[in-house]
Amino acid sequence: MIDTVIKADNVTKSYGNLKAVKNLSFQVEKSACFGMLGPNGAGKTTMSRMLYGNALRDNSGKSAINVFGYDPGYNELQIKALAGIVPQENNLDLELSVEQNLFIYSRFYGLRKREISKRIDELLNFMELTEKKKSKIRDLSGGMKRRLIIARALINRPKLLILDEPTTGLDPQVRNLIWDKLRKLQREGVTIILTTHYMEEAFQLCTRLIIMNLGEKILEGRPAQLLKKHIEPYVLEIFNQEKPVTFHDNRNIRIEGTESRYLLYSNELETLKRIVTDYNPGDVYIRQSNLEDLFLKTTGRHLNE
Ligand code: ATP
Repeated sequence: MIDTVIKADNVTKSYGNLKAVKNLSFQVEKSACFGMLGPNGAGKTTMSRMLYGNALRDNSGKSAINVFGYDPGYNELQIKALAGIVPQENNLDLELSVEQNLFIYSRFYGLRKREISKRIDELLNFMELTEKKKSKIRDLSGGMKRRLIIARALINRPKLLILDEPTTGLDPQVRNLIWDKLRKLQREGVTIILTTHYMEEAFQLCTRLIIMNLGEKILEGRPAQLLKKHIEPYVLEIFNQEKPVTFHDNRNIRIEGTESRYLLYSNELETLKRIVTDYNPGDVYIRQSNLEDLFLKTTGRHLNE
């Protein structure tokens, strides 16, 4: 039997005249890593905040959110007891040490003192921060702060972890470490909600995702399936064109481009290789298409504009 952890139906959120989220519906199954991928302003943060009652959806008869059987509009505390939240901003207490930040949080959940110190050690070990236990927050790197916030979100052994842009601005090494930890948690049965504008992060982690733009869902599915279904598998990138190239033949290619960079999409790798040989267009790179290409195809925009 499939357990549904989250069900959102026709959810809309307005800020004055702006509709930050428009008629969004989706379901998340237990142990999934469910992604919301989209550029700045797509409505990802707003949607994720509505899941734990931090923002309220517009009131309308046909709209509903159900998280573990609770409506976050009314049962915020019940959901927070079962969930861990990693907000977009690093909101640690700068005056306190690593250990003290975790201690204060654990008291919110009513953990007993003996239990707390064991749990703190476990979490610091899990996020590879044991050596920083006594350090002040201001002495941590950006990546360490992010790892500590994830450790803090895990203090109550949540069944659901909601992460808003967990690796934005971090170097690839820390990003990979965080991805490994999230995969491990997912394998242990934790359901993960991840908002991100990094297509690589979504592709690496998400078992299912929605692609969002301007508050709306554009596409939904498994990352690899979305690519297979909606976009040509190969791309030829042409950089720094001094003058635009005109392709005089009909080779079944789709072209997206700006003055300095063309993207030629094809179902056949050979077609792209032949174009390189025939036109010798300068600096080129042939690769597989990705979620960024899919976003560009469906919206005409880049994810990281
Ligand atoms: P980012 O990655 O930049 O956080 P996002 O996809 O998470 O983007 P949201 O933060 O949900 O997008 O914002 C969606 C829209 O709602 C934006 O136009 C934003 O300016 C607006 N918005 C978000 N929060 C508020 C608020 N508290 N008051 C007014 N407008 C808001």
